[in-house]
Amino acid sequence: MEIRTLGTTGLKVSRLGFGAAPLGNEYGGMENGEAKRAIDLAIDNGINFFDVAPYYGLTLAETRLGEMLKGRRHEVILATKVARYGLASFDFSAARVTRSADESLQRLQTDYLDILHVHDVEFGDKRQIVDETIPALRRVQEAGKARFIGITGLSLRMLREVAAEAPVDCMLSYCRYNLLNTDVTSINPEGLINASPLHMGLLTPSGPPPWHPAMPVVRETARRIVEFCQGRGISVTDTALQFALDNRSIATTFAGMSTTAEVRQNLQALAGSPDPEILREIEVLAQPARGRIWKAGRPENYDPNME
Ligand code: NAD
Repeated sequence: MEIRTLGTTGLKVSRLGFGAAPLGNEYGGMENGEAKRAIDLAIDNGINFFDVAPYYGLTLAETRLGEMLKGRRHEVILATKVARYGLASFDFSAARVTRSADESLQRLQTDYLDILHVHDVEFGDKRQIVDETIPALRRVQEAGKARFIGITGLSLRMLREVAAEAPVDCMLSYCRYNLLNTDVTSINPEGLINASPLHMGLLTPSGPPPWHPAMPVVRETARRIVEFCQGRGISVTDTALQFALDNRSIATTFAGMSTTAEVRQNLQALAGSPDPEILREIEVLAQPARGRIWKAGRPENYDPNME
Protein backbone atom coordinates (compact mmCIF):
# COMPACT_ATOMS: atom_id res chain seq x y z
CA MET A 1 0.00 0.00 0.00
CA GLU A 2 1.37 3.38 -1.00
CA ILE A 3 1.59 5.74 1.97
CA ARG A 4 1.34 9.49 1.41
CA THR A 5 1.88 12.50 3.65
CA LEU A 6 -1.32 14.39 4.45
CA GLY A 7 -0.32 18.01 3.83
CA THR A 8 1.15 19.89 6.75
CA THR A 9 -0.15 17.36 9.31
CA GLY A 10 2.72 15.06 8.41
CA LEU A 11 0.34 12.13 8.97
CA LYS A 12 1.33 9.13 6.89
CA VAL A 13 -1.93 7.94 5.38
CA SER A 14 -2.68 5.14 2.96
CA ARG A 15 -3.55 6.24 -0.54
CA LEU A 16 -6.93 4.49 -0.15
CA GLY A 17 -8.88 5.19 3.03
CA PHE A 18 -11.79 3.34 4.60
CA GLY A 19 -15.00 5.39 4.60
CA ALA A 20 -17.21 4.14 7.41
CA ALA A 21 -20.51 5.79 6.39
CA PRO A 22 -21.84 2.34 5.33
CA LEU A 23 -21.41 1.21 8.96
CA GLY A 24 -24.31 3.55 9.73
CA ASN A 25 -26.51 1.60 7.27
CA GLU A 26 -26.35 4.62 4.94
CA TYR A 27 -26.22 2.27 1.95
CA GLY A 28 -28.64 -0.34 3.29
CA GLY A 29 -28.20 -2.85 6.07
CA MET A 30 -24.88 -4.49 6.76
CA GLU A 31 -23.80 -7.48 8.75
CA ASN A 32 -21.63 -6.80 11.81
CA GLY A 33 -19.38 -9.86 11.51
CA GLU A 34 -18.75 -9.23 7.83
CA ALA A 35 -18.00 -5.55 8.43
CA LYS A 36 -15.52 -6.45 11.19
CA ARG A 37 -13.79 -8.88 8.80
CA ALA A 38 -13.75 -6.13 6.15
CA ILE A 39 -12.04 -3.75 8.57
CA ASP A 40 -9.48 -6.35 9.62
CA LEU A 41 -8.78 -7.21 5.99
CA ALA A 42 -8.32 -3.52 5.18
CA ILE A 43 -5.88 -2.96 8.06
CA ASP A 44 -3.98 -6.18 7.31
CA ASN A 45 -3.46 -4.88 3.78
CA GLY A 46 -2.19 -1.46 4.74
CA ILE A 47 -5.36 0.70 4.75
CA ASN A 48 -4.62 2.83 7.80
CA PHE A 49 -6.97 5.82 7.43
CA PHE A 50 -10.57 5.61 8.68
CA ASP A 51 -13.30 8.24 8.42
CA VAL A 52 -16.56 8.33 10.35
CA ALA A 53 -19.01 10.88 11.81
CA PRO A 54 -21.74 11.09 14.46
CA TYR A 55 -24.16 11.77 11.57
CA TYR A 56 -23.68 8.36 9.92
CA GLY A 57 -26.54 6.23 11.16
CA LEU A 58 -27.12 8.84 13.87
CA THR A 59 -24.10 7.62 15.92
CA LEU A 60 -24.42 3.97 14.85
CA ALA A 61 -21.36 4.06 12.57
CA GLU A 62 -19.13 5.49 15.30
CA THR A 63 -20.36 2.96 17.84
CA ARG A 64 -19.79 0.06 15.45
CA LEU A 65 -16.40 1.34 14.32
CA GLY A 66 -15.27 1.76 17.95
CA GLU A 67 -16.25 -1.83 18.65
CA MET A 68 -14.62 -3.16 15.48
CA LEU A 69 -11.33 -1.30 16.03
CA LYS A 70 -10.93 -2.72 19.54
CA GLY A 71 -7.33 -3.82 19.96
CA ARG A 72 -6.32 -2.22 16.64
CA ARG A 73 -6.94 1.48 17.36
CA HIS A 74 -3.19 2.19 17.49
CA GLU A 75 -2.77 0.79 13.94
CA VAL A 76 -5.02 3.38 12.30
CA ILE A 77 -5.39 7.11 11.77
CA LEU A 78 -8.91 7.90 12.87
CA ALA A 79 -10.96 10.89 11.69
CA THR A 80 -14.41 11.90 12.85
CA LYS A 81 -16.53 15.04 12.78
CA VAL A 82 -18.65 17.52 14.72
CA ALA A 83 -21.61 19.82 14.03
CA ARG A 84 -23.84 17.61 11.87
CA TYR A 85 -26.27 15.38 13.73
CA GLY A 86 -29.03 14.62 11.21
CA LEU A 87 -30.20 15.35 7.68
CA ALA A 88 -31.21 18.86 8.74
CA SER A 89 -29.76 18.93 12.24
CA PHE A 90 -26.67 21.08 12.74
CA ASP A 91 -25.06 22.81 15.70
CA PHE A 92 -21.81 24.68 15.17
CA SER A 93 -21.71 26.24 18.66
CA ALA A 94 -18.55 25.92 20.74
CA ALA A 95 -20.41 24.18 23.55
CA ARG A 96 -21.99 21.55 21.29
CA VAL A 97 -18.89 20.73 19.23
CA THR A 98 -16.76 20.45 22.37
CA ARG A 99 -19.24 18.03 23.94
CA SER A 100 -19.53 16.23 20.62
CA ALA A 101 -15.79 15.49 20.59
CA ASP A 102 -16.07 13.84 24.02
CA GLU A 103 -19.09 11.80 22.89
CA SER A 104 -17.19 10.60 19.82
CA LEU A 105 -14.20 9.59 21.95
CA GLN A 106 -16.53 7.46 24.05
CA ARG A 107 -18.28 5.83 21.12
CA LEU A 108 -14.99 5.19 19.34
CA GLN A 109 -13.49 3.79 22.57
CA THR A 110 -10.37 5.91 22.35
CA ASP A 111 -8.80 8.81 24.23
CA TYR A 112 -7.67 10.74 21.15
CA LEU A 113 -8.81 11.42 17.60
CA ASP A 114 -6.25 11.88 14.87
CA ILE A 115 -8.41 14.35 12.95
CA LEU A 116 -11.54 16.17 14.03
CA HIS A 117 -13.43 17.77 11.14
CA VAL A 118 -16.23 20.31 11.11
CA HIS A 119 -18.86 18.39 9.11
CA ASP A 120 -20.36 20.05 6.00
CA VAL A 121 -19.39 23.66 6.60
CA GLU A 122 -21.78 24.99 3.92
CA PHE A 123 -24.66 24.35 6.33
CA GLY A 124 -23.24 26.78 8.87
CA ASP A 125 -22.82 30.51 9.26
CA LYS A 126 -19.33 31.34 8.03
CA ARG A 127 -18.67 33.87 10.80
CA GLN A 128 -19.68 31.38 13.49
CA ILE A 129 -17.48 28.65 12.00
CA VAL A 130 -14.49 30.98 11.73
CA ASP A 131 -14.94 32.79 15.06
CA GLU A 132 -16.42 30.04 17.24
CA THR A 133 -16.37 26.49 15.86
CA ILE A 134 -12.77 26.29 14.70
CA PRO A 135 -11.37 28.05 17.81
CA ALA A 136 -13.34 25.53 19.91
CA LEU A 137 -11.76 22.66 17.98
CA ARG A 138 -8.32 24.21 18.51
CA ARG A 139 -9.03 24.04 22.26
CA VAL A 140 -10.03 20.38 21.89
CA GLN A 141 -6.71 19.90 20.11
CA GLU A 142 -4.79 21.74 22.86
CA ALA A 143 -6.43 19.46 25.41
CA GLY A 144 -4.84 16.52 23.57
CA LYS A 145 -8.14 15.03 22.40
CA ALA A 146 -7.52 15.62 18.68
CA ARG A 147 -4.14 15.73 16.95
CA PHE A 148 -5.35 17.78 13.98
CA ILE A 149 -8.46 19.66 12.92
CA GLY A 150 -10.10 20.21 9.56
CA ILE A 151 -13.27 20.99 7.63
CA THR A 152 -15.42 18.98 5.22
CA GLY A 153 -18.09 19.87 2.71
CA LEU A 154 -19.51 19.94 -0.79
CA SER A 155 -19.12 23.66 -1.44
CA LEU A 156 -15.57 24.27 -2.60
CA ARG A 157 -16.06 28.00 -2.22
CA MET A 158 -16.98 27.59 1.44
CA LEU A 159 -14.05 25.24 2.10
CA ARG A 160 -11.68 27.76 0.53
CA GLU A 161 -13.16 30.80 2.28
CA VAL A 162 -13.30 29.23 5.74
CA ALA A 163 -9.71 27.96 5.44
CA ALA A 164 -8.55 31.40 4.30
CA GLU A 165 -9.93 33.01 7.46
CA ALA A 166 -9.32 30.23 9.97
CA PRO A 167 -6.44 28.05 8.82
CA VAL A 168 -7.05 24.34 9.37
CA ASP A 169 -4.76 21.33 9.11
CA CYS A 170 -6.62 19.51 6.33
CA MET A 171 -9.88 19.47 4.41
CA LEU A 172 -12.16 16.84 2.92
CA SER A 173 -14.26 17.40 -0.17
CA TYR A 174 -16.68 14.82 -1.54
CA CYS A 175 -18.15 14.01 -4.96
CA ARG A 176 -15.87 16.64 -6.51
CA TYR A 177 -13.17 14.39 -7.90
CA ASN A 178 -14.21 11.25 -9.72
CA LEU A 179 -15.20 10.12 -13.22
CA LEU A 180 -18.30 12.34 -13.12
CA ASN A 181 -16.97 15.50 -11.50
CA THR A 182 -13.47 16.99 -11.28
CA ASP A 183 -14.33 20.42 -9.82
CA VAL A 184 -11.90 20.11 -6.90
CA THR A 185 -8.97 20.67 -9.21
CA SER A 186 -10.01 24.34 -9.15
CA ILE A 187 -8.92 24.76 -5.52
CA ASN A 188 -6.12 22.24 -5.19
CA PRO A 189 -5.30 22.80 -1.50
CA GLU A 190 -2.48 21.13 0.37
CA GLY A 191 -3.61 18.18 2.45
CA LEU A 192 -6.74 17.44 0.45
CA ILE A 193 -8.76 14.37 1.30
CA ASN A 194 -11.03 13.24 -1.54
CA ALA A 195 -14.19 11.32 -0.61
CA SER A 196 -16.78 9.41 -2.61
CA PRO A 197 -14.73 8.21 -5.61
CA LEU A 198 -17.84 6.22 -6.65
CA HIS A 199 -19.97 9.40 -6.41
CA MET A 200 -21.81 7.90 -3.41
CA GLY A 201 -22.77 4.73 -5.25
CA LEU A 202 -23.65 6.19 -8.67
CA LEU A 203 -20.55 4.59 -10.19
CA THR A 204 -21.42 1.06 -9.08
CA PRO A 205 -23.32 -1.69 -10.92
CA SER A 206 -26.10 -1.60 -8.30
CA GLY A 207 -26.51 2.17 -8.55
CA PRO A 208 -27.16 4.87 -5.95
CA PRO A 209 -29.05 4.72 -2.65
CA PRO A 210 -32.59 6.21 -2.65
CA TRP A 211 -31.45 9.44 -0.94
CA HIS A 212 -28.84 10.31 -3.58
CA PRO A 213 -29.15 14.06 -4.34
CA ALA A 214 -27.72 14.08 -7.90
CA MET A 215 -29.83 15.61 -10.66
CA PRO A 216 -31.23 13.40 -13.46
CA VAL A 217 -28.51 14.27 -16.00
CA VAL A 218 -25.79 13.14 -13.59
CA ARG A 219 -27.62 9.90 -12.77
CA GLU A 220 -28.20 9.21 -16.45
CA THR A 221 -24.55 9.89 -17.29
CA ALA A 222 -23.44 7.56 -14.49
CA ARG A 223 -25.75 4.85 -15.79
CA ARG A 224 -24.23 5.19 -19.27
CA ILE A 225 -20.71 4.90 -17.84
CA VAL A 226 -21.68 1.80 -15.82
CA GLU A 227 -23.23 0.22 -18.94
CA PHE A 228 -20.24 1.17 -21.07
CA CYS A 229 -17.90 -0.59 -18.62
CA GLN A 230 -20.16 -3.62 -18.46
CA GLY A 231 -20.21 -3.76 -22.26
CA ARG A 232 -16.41 -3.72 -22.34
CA GLY A 233 -16.16 -6.36 -19.62
CA ILE A 234 -14.35 -4.07 -17.20
CA SER A 235 -15.18 -3.13 -13.62
CA VAL A 236 -16.63 0.37 -13.28
CA THR A 237 -15.60 0.57 -9.62
CA ASP A 238 -11.99 -0.40 -10.44
CA THR A 239 -11.86 2.21 -13.20
CA ALA A 240 -13.42 4.90 -10.99
CA LEU A 241 -11.03 4.19 -8.12
CA GLN A 242 -7.99 4.10 -10.36
CA PHE A 243 -8.99 7.42 -11.92
CA ALA A 244 -9.47 9.13 -8.54
CA LEU A 245 -6.35 7.70 -6.93
CA ASP A 246 -4.17 8.55 -9.88
CA ASN A 247 -4.23 12.27 -9.09
CA ARG A 248 -1.02 13.00 -7.18
CA SER A 249 -2.27 16.34 -5.83
CA ILE A 250 -4.87 14.47 -3.77
CA ALA A 251 -3.30 12.95 -0.69
CA THR A 252 -5.81 10.21 -0.09
CA THR A 253 -9.27 9.04 -1.07
CA PHE A 254 -11.99 7.57 1.14
CA ALA A 255 -14.16 4.89 -0.43
CA GLY A 256 -17.17 3.64 1.53
CA MET A 257 -16.85 -0.07 2.27
CA SER A 258 -18.45 -2.61 4.57
CA THR A 259 -17.78 -6.04 3.06
CA THR A 260 -14.67 -8.13 2.51
CA ALA A 261 -15.58 -8.42 -1.18
CA GLU A 262 -15.52 -4.61 -1.57
CA VAL A 263 -12.26 -4.26 0.34
CA ARG A 264 -10.64 -7.08 -1.65
CA GLN A 265 -11.78 -5.69 -4.98
CA ASN A 266 -10.75 -2.14 -4.15
CA LEU A 267 -7.32 -3.29 -2.97
CA GLN A 268 -6.88 -5.19 -6.21
CA ALA A 269 -7.91 -2.12 -8.20
CA LEU A 270 -4.94 -0.27 -6.72
CA ALA A 271 -2.57 -2.69 -8.37
CA GLY A 272 -3.77 -1.82 -11.85
CA SER A 273 -4.30 1.27 -13.94
CA PRO A 274 -7.07 2.02 -16.41
CA ASP A 275 -6.60 1.68 -20.14
CA PRO A 276 -6.02 5.27 -21.42
CA GLU A 277 -8.29 4.62 -24.41
CA ILE A 278 -11.14 3.49 -22.10
CA LEU A 279 -10.61 6.61 -19.96
CA ARG A 280 -10.80 8.81 -23.05
CA GLU A 281 -14.10 7.21 -24.02
CA ILE A 282 -15.45 7.63 -20.47
CA GLU A 283 -14.32 11.24 -20.49
CA VAL A 284 -16.51 11.86 -23.54
CA LEU A 285 -19.46 10.02 -21.96
CA ALA A 286 -19.00 12.03 -18.75
CA GLN A 287 -19.24 15.46 -20.38
CA PRO A 288 -22.97 16.05 -19.62
CA ALA A 289 -22.25 15.57 -15.89
CA ARG A 290 -19.03 17.59 -15.62
CA GLY A 291 -19.44 20.76 -13.56
CA ARG A 292 -22.98 19.75 -12.55
CA ILE A 293 -23.52 19.68 -8.80
CA TRP A 294 -26.57 19.92 -6.57
CA LYS A 295 -27.25 22.64 -4.04
CA ALA A 296 -26.21 21.95 -0.47
CA GLY A 297 -26.23 24.19 2.56
CA ARG A 298 -27.15 27.84 2.93
CA PRO A 299 -27.69 29.81 -0.28
CA GLU A 300 -24.96 32.29 0.67
CA ASN A 301 -22.48 29.39 0.81
CA TYR A 302 -23.34 27.78 -2.53
CA ASP A 303 -20.70 27.29 -5.18
CA PRO A 304 -21.49 29.34 -8.28
CA ASN A 305 -22.23 26.17 -10.28
CA MET A 306 -24.60 24.62 -7.75
CA GLU A 307 -28.05 24.15 -9.28
P1 NAD B 1 -18.45 6.16 -2.27
O1 NAD B 1 -18.37 6.94 -3.51
O2 NAD B 1 -17.21 5.68 -1.65
O3 NAD B 1 -19.49 4.95 -2.53
C1 NAD B 1 -19.86 4.08 -1.52
C2 NAD B 1 -20.76 3.01 -2.10
O4 NAD B 1 -20.01 2.22 -3.01
C3 NAD B 1 -21.28 2.04 -1.06
O5 NAD B 1 -22.59 1.64 -1.43
C4 NAD B 1 -20.35 0.87 -1.15
O6 NAD B 1 -20.98 -0.32 -0.72
C5 NAD B 1 -20.09 0.84 -2.63
N1 NAD B 1 -18.83 0.19 -3.02
C6 NAD B 1 -17.58 0.40 -2.53
N2 NAD B 1 -16.69 -0.41 -3.13
C7 NAD B 1 -17.40 -1.14 -4.03
C8 NAD B 1 -17.04 -2.15 -4.97
N3 NAD B 1 -15.78 -2.56 -5.11
N4 NAD B 1 -18.03 -2.70 -5.73
C9 NAD B 1 -19.32 -2.29 -5.62
N5 NAD B 1 -19.72 -1.32 -4.74
C10 NAD B 1 -18.75 -0.76 -3.97
O7 NAD B 1 -19.29 7.06 -1.24
P2 NAD B 1 -19.23 7.33 0.32
O8 NAD B 1 -19.21 6.08 1.12
O9 NAD B 1 -20.31 8.30 0.60
O10 NAD B 1 -17.87 8.11 0.50
C11 NAD B 1 -16.74 7.52 1.06
C12 NAD B 1 -16.51 8.00 2.48
O11 NAD B 1 -16.12 9.38 2.46
C13 NAD B 1 -17.74 7.94 3.38
O12 NAD B 1 -17.91 6.64 3.90
C14 NAD B 1 -17.39 8.97 4.42
O13 NAD B 1 -16.51 8.39 5.36
C15 NAD B 1 -16.64 10.03 3.61
N6 NAD B 1 -17.55 11.14 3.19
C16 NAD B 1 -17.54 12.29 3.91
C17 NAD B 1 -18.39 13.34 3.58
C18 NAD B 1 -18.38 14.61 4.39
O14 NAD B 1 -17.58 14.75 5.27
N7 NAD B 1 -19.26 15.55 4.13
C19 NAD B 1 -19.28 13.21 2.51
C20 NAD B 1 -19.25 12.04 1.76
C21 NAD B 1 -18.37 11.01 2.11
